Amino acid sequence: MNKLVDRFCRYVKVATTAVEETEDYPSSPEQKDLGRMLVAELKELGLTDADMDEFGIVMATIPGNVEGAPTIAMLAHMDTSPEFNGKNVKPQIIEDYDGKDIVLSGDTTKVICVQETPELKQLVGKTLITTDGTSLLGADDKSGIAAIMTLADHLQSNPEIKHGPIRIVFTCDEEVGRGADKLDLKKIDAVCAYTLDGESEGFVESETFSADLATVTITGKNIHPGYAKGAMINAIRLAAVFVSRMPWETQSPERTSDRDGFLHPYVIEGGVHEIKMRILLRSFVTAELEEEAGILRGIAEKTQAEHPGSKIDVSVKKQYRNMIEHLKKEPRATSLAEQAIRAVGLQPKSTAIRGGTDGSRLSEMGLPTPNLSVGMHNYHSPLEFACVEQMQSAVNVLIELAQLWGKEK
Ligand SMILES: [Zn+2]
Repeated sequence: MNKLVDRFCRYVKVATTAVEETEDYPSSPEQKDLGRMLVAELKELGLTDADMDEFGIVMATIPGNVEGAPTIAMLAHMDTSPEFNGKNVKPQIIEDYDGKDIVLSGDTTKVICVQETPELKQLVGKTLITTDGTSLLGADDKSGIAAIMTLADHLQSNPEIKHGPIRIVFTCDEEVGRGADKLDLKKIDAVCAYTLDGESEGFVESETFSADLATVTITGKNIHPGYAKGAMINAIRLAAVFVSRMPWETQSPERTSDRDGFLHPYVIEGGVHEIKMRILLRSFVTAELEEEAGILRGIAEKTQAEHPGSKIDVSVKKQYRNMIEHLKKEPRATSLAEQAIRAVGLQPKSTAIRGGTDGSRLSEMGLPTPNLSVGMHNYHSPLEFACVEQMQSAVNVLIELAQLWGKEK
């Protein structure tokens, strides 16, 4: 367990915050600093092919020791969320957690409250790692990296454990939606993959939203307001009408949960002459995205007809698809993960993610990739923490999973 904690604390101290406003890949050069460190450690573990490519993506192979077993891949991302400071991370280790609120020492206004974090009740007596309140922790996803490194260490030092080849892939820029952009599936060459990027323990996440992005462009007519009577068409007013006609009570993120989809206007910009709105379309059923786009087109038609001279255009761009549709290609990806979780004495749980993961893109690209728990909590925030026992149980699940795949053909 100590090695796992050592690794984790070493990795979180390398600042790897992803940057949204850049075309560079990786979006921040520090991601390559962590990459170099990991390549050196992988080589020390005897993974001779460990390498980082020009984009900062680290790959290595744990060689298999049984004939004919399929290659699987284990993925984790090196970047952390731009939503909170990721520099000068000072991990705080709390042993034998007492079940009380946790006041963070570097900023005592930051408190991990039991009331807001009900899962803390189940973690009494465990070892937790928190921040000092001035940064996020980066357990998302350095707990995933530490777990995969510990798996490699364990399999390399215990050659009697039988398993097939395991490709390790550490990616960049997941937090800004570009984690799968530069991945070469031919090079990974696996039957399926797992992202170690899930909270808590025992979860196999094999369902995500399907997602499209709608852009609504409203063109009005601008005229000096002193002479505007009967001639001006104010795109701002039409935008207000447009939004008021969108279903709020039944199909908005602030009014729905679980398996309900939504339409979510999240950016509006422009003026009297032209307004552009960006609207997220989300559903677990891909076909329903077309119905959601249809709602927008209906509102556009009606509003435009009421205001002759205006023009309202709706264009829809595909984002990602529910991975469950693509996991059917390799049902063992999920079933063996569940079996591995049972083998370490946990009851496998599944949730449908109200968002997307790198796995939703990868699954669609042809590499079925469910997501597994790795002990993180409250991510993207200074209240982020990791539970060491849950991280260790993720490692144990990976060891079981490696052996289960070793028996397959
Ligand atoms: Zn993550």
